[in-house]
Amino acid sequence: MTDSSPKGVSTRIIHNRRDHHDCNSPYTPIYNTTTYRFANTRELLDTIEGRHSGYLYTRWGGNPTIRELEQGLAQLEQAEGALAFAAGMAAISATLFAHGRKGIVCVGDLYGGAQQLMTQHLSPLGIAVRFLRYEEIPQLGSHLSEGMLVYCESPANPTLRLLDLAALAATAHQHGALLAIDNTFASPINQQPLALGADLVLHSASKYLSGHSDITAGAVMASAALLKPIASWRTSLGQIISPEAASLLSRSIRTLSLRVRQHNANALAVAKAMEAHPRISRVLYPGLTSFPDHTLACQQMKGFGGMLTIEVKGGREAAEKVADHLQVFLLATSLGGVESLVSQPVATSHHSLPPEEWARQGITGGMLRLSVGLEDVDDLIADLHQALALL
Ligand SMILES: *Cc1c(COP(=O)(O)O)cnc(C)c1O
Repeated sequence: MTDSSPKGVSTRIIHNRRDHHDCNSPYTPIYNTTTYRFANTRELLDTIEGRHSGYLYTRWGGNPTIRELEQGLAQLEQAEGALAFAAGMAAISATLFAHGRKGIVCVGDLYGGAQQLMTQHLSPLGIAVRFLRYEEIPQLGSHLSEGMLVYCESPANPTLRLLDLAALAATAHQHGALLAIDNTFASPINQQPLALGADLVLHSASKYLSGHSDITAGAVMASAALLKPIASWRTSLGQIISPEAASLLSRSIRTLSLRVRQHNANALAVAKAMEAHPRISRVLYPGLTSFPDHTLACQQMKGFGGMLTIEVKGGREAAEKVADHLQVFLLATSLGGVESLVSQPVATSHHSLPPEEWARQGITGGMLRLSVGLEDVDDLIADLHQALALL
């Protein structure tokens, strides 16, 4: 793209490339290299001392394949920059080390891995971590001071509960704190937290960004100033993405917008079919008018995503029977791939938590979480119908 008129996200991603290679390929090849040679010491020092923008060493982030990916990731969230990581948890941990040292306030329900990182690893290191329930959000300001970090997810797993991101950002900023949000469930196509006031956006790129359940990767998007200390932690912890995974992920994000639109359409159709089913007591999906946060969803999301949770009448045993008899939906954790997946939160993502905690988060034995894929939607609905008919 040579002209500078503003472009839509699909155009920007498809034409994201770095023209530094010599065979006119529209794509950057996989630079499977750890290091780069210099003609002489003067050239090496020019690069090390920043007078010349060359590459030095892949772990430090200097790799053309990885840099091209990061340019694309930044475009997705309309951020000044992005850093790519070997996993979503790598992005989250580096971000918390870099920006959470003055204290972290978590709001609402979190991904189990993030929760574990806070309680098992950051707290023992002396980092103050506080967890606020949804009903405690009005008190958020009283827990914040200069330099702290507010950390959250919206929609949350598996209830899909939402948070008012613009309001959270305003409260955080009023007290000199930053707002970080894990935007994995929504994807950048459906929700743009930076535009709503957030400072840092995190992704498990193993989900929608890769989209084919074949890459483990992570990302953080933010201003260059906020990314700088995160990059330093990434270097020290050795969390860089591999050039091969970076190349695959660059390929995947070129179709993100197309895939997410179909995930949205399929999930809405499945949600409506399940809402009408006599053996389903509840469907949680932000796009349904019956969803408690539906108005907020319409305000801050452009699409409602591919994740939904259904509650089967008859509790844990009935839900297990349905999960075990689905044929198109695969019984597996994770989400965001082309194939539809089903998981029972009490047997997977929330298995390690005590039943009191399930109750506190509104999780029941009858719940099944669906990651609605890109199959023909009639086949997905028919699959659910045949499994529910066995009850
Ligand atoms: C999967 C997931 C993560 C962790 O990502 P990995 O790539 O598995 O490290 C973090 N947050 C959310 C919301 C996730 O779904």
